Amino acid sequence: MNYEHILIRYAELSLKGKNRKFFEQKLQSNIREALKPFPAVKTSKSFGRMFVQLNGEDEEKVSDRLKNVFGIHSFSPAVKVPLEKEAICEGALWAAKDALPEGNRTFKVSVRRTNKDFPIGSQEMNQIVGGHVLRNMNHLSVDLHHPDVHLKVEIRQEAAYITCKVIKASGGLPVGTSGKVMLMLSGGIDSPVAGYLALKRGVTIEAVHFHSPPFTNERAKQKVEDLVKVLTKFGGNMNLHIVPFTDVQTAIHKQVPDNYEMTVMRRFMLRITEKLAEINQAKGIVNGESLGQVASQTLESMYAINEVTSIPVLRPLITMDKLEVIDVARAIGTYDISILPYEDCCTIFLPSESKTKPNHLKAQRYESFLDIEKMVDQTVERMETMKIHEGIDENKGFEKLF
Ligand code: ATP
Ligand code: MG
Repeated sequence: MNYEHILIRYAELSLKGKNRKFFEQKLQSNIREALKPFPAVKTSKSFGRMFVQLNGEDEEKVSDRLKNVFGIHSFSPAVKVPLEKEAICEGALWAAKDALPEGNRTFKVSVRRTNKDFPIGSQEMNQIVGGHVLRNMNHLSVDLHHPDVHLKVEIRQEAAYITCKVIKASGGLPVGTSGKVMLMLSGGIDSPVAGYLALKRGVTIEAVHFHSPPFTNERAKQKVEDLVKVLTKFGGNMNLHIVPFTDVQTAIHKQVPDNYEMTVMRRFMLRITEKLAEINQAKGIVNGESLGQVASQTLESMYAINEVTSIPVLRPLITMDKLEVIDVARAIGTYDISILPYEDCCTIFLPSESKTKPNHLKAQRYESFLDIEKMVDQTVERMETMKIHEGIDENKGFEKLF
């Protein structure tokens, strides 16, 4: 006998009405996509659960990938047996032996019968299965409250499934069920984490990176590509728009007083990102700002910068401490890439002192010397877009997520 199946549970709270079917279909197609490297695997749906049939593929490797699929609450390797009392007992015994090493151990059986055609009730089955396991294993006793192993038997329409461990997955909503956003992706620690958390709420992402050659080099660009590559593990293939920002930055540097350069530069970034959102039918922008972290992220700064756009700007990290962000960055595998020391466009030209309380009217006045629309349009015209494909890199696992 073997764990030939994986039973997948998803968060049912969001599964109301018409959305349910959409949610389930998206989740199933995302699972299929994530399990593409395992060609023998088959997936199926049945009444509020999904099943992966392993067909000889490695259970642990498949599990590692399922942990990264948003919308899955938890999953369990399962033994599938025919709808017969004896087969169920044998399956349960195998699972108990597999899960419990020798020595004094406790267990508990819970039978759930959704198939009412099965002739034995769940209470009676509890006793039959429990009795069978007890008779065939030494040093074992029943503990209904804190068992070492909880054997669960689901008697369903097509077969019975026996599971005894629950693996927690990432939760959230299936990517593709919440619309599309543009992710402002610098090479820093925060924005990839913001992207990850946005994906968790079910959005699809197109990444936008502002690049200022020759002040920022090819390696800085490569770094952002690598970060997107990590995000594709959670969100599938992704577009990355590289925006040539040198001309805009140079013009700002000439026209705007030092202490307002950063505010005005951010306003341009936001305008350009909004334009890209419009072109790509995205309904929002995600960035990596956290309240009060640096001068550009005070409430006053956000007020002065945000006024140039009318579409939602989502800030998943807004209440997080830097250390909390770093923990997530480590867990998802972006941290080591983010700390590579290449110059970001935001740091060039900038004076050491930026206003922490910029006045939006002043920002407007300084900008009035610039041809804003033309600068935005010309920049967008010269933008470069690349598609980053999800790549399987065996050496870069993402074992631990929270
Ligand atoms: P990060 O670690 O994400 O760079 P940060 O704490 O360093 O964030 P800033 O550099 O002030 O903060 O940037 C704030 C946010 O603005 C970033 O999280 C990112 O969303 C966006 N941003 C900054 N620089 C760029 C860039 N070159 N390209 C795209 N977005 C950027
Ligand atoms: Mg930064």
